Amino acid sequence: MQLDEEKRRVLAETKGFMPDVEGEALFFAAQEICESSVAGPIVEIGSYCGRSTIWLGAAAQAAGRLVVTVDHHRGSEETQAGWEHHDPDVVDPRTQKMDTLPFLRRTLFDADLEDTVIAVVGTSPNVAAVWSKEISMLFIDGGHGAEQAATDYGSWVPHVASGGVLAIHDVFADPSEGGQAPHDEIYRPALDSGEFVEVSRTGSLRLLRRL
Ligand code: SAH
Ligand code: MG
Repeated sequence: MQLDEEKRRVLAETKGFMPDVEGEALFFAAQEICESSVAGPIVEIGSYCGRSTIWLGAAAQAAGRLVVTVDHHRGSEETQAGWEHHDPDVVDPRTQKMDTLPFLRRTLFDADLEDTVIAVVGTSPNVAAVWSKEISMLFIDGGHGAEQAATDYGSWVPHVASGGVLAIHDVFADPSEGGQAPHDEIYRPALDSGEFVEVSRTGSLRLLRRL
C-alpha cells in the first residue's frame, strides 16, 4: 500500500527533515509491524511539524493502531536561531521561542490523523519517566546531542517489544557526513547489546529489530 493522495499533498506542504525515500522505508516497516502480532503503539521521539509522523500515522491508521509522538516543540540545538536548520516561521513572536506544536496540529488535522496520533508535549526524559508500555516500533529522531541521544537510548529502547522495530534517524558512521550522537549513543549500543539486528539502511535511517 502507498500513501494516499491526501496524505501526499499534506506531506508536500509539511516542513521537516525526512526525505521521501526514508519516509517510505519508515512507512513500510511500520506497515509490517502493524500487521504483525507484535503489540503496542508506535512511538516517535521528535515530532517537529509532523513529516515523519504522517508516514508512521498512515501505516498505523490502516491497521487500527496508534502512534504516540513526543516533542517539547522548542526545537533542537541545530534548529535554533543562528543555526543551519533554523526556520524563522516556527518562532512564536510572543515568546521568541520556537513552537512547532501548531504546525504539528495542522499536519495531523489536514492528514486526517487526529484519531490515530497522540501528540505528547514534554521533554523526552520526562515522558519516558511516566512510560511503562511495550512499544511495537520506536523511532528516535529527537535531540542529537550526545547526552540527549544516550538518555533516549537508556529510557526508551528498553520498552521495545521482542520482535519490535527500533528506527534511528541521522545515523552517520563518518563524522564528515553529520553529527555522531545517533550513531555512537543509539545505533552502536543497540547492536553491541546483542539484542538487536540490523534490518535495513536508507539514507541516514537505520532499522533494527529486537530479537
Ligand atoms: N521527525 C521530524 C524531525 C524531528 S527534528 C521530521 O520528520 O520532520 C527533532 C525534534 O526533536 C525537534 O522538534 C525538537 O524539538 C525535538 N527534541 C529535541 N530534543 C528533545 C527532547 N529532549 N525532548 C523532546 N523533544 C526534543
Ligand atoms: Mg532527523
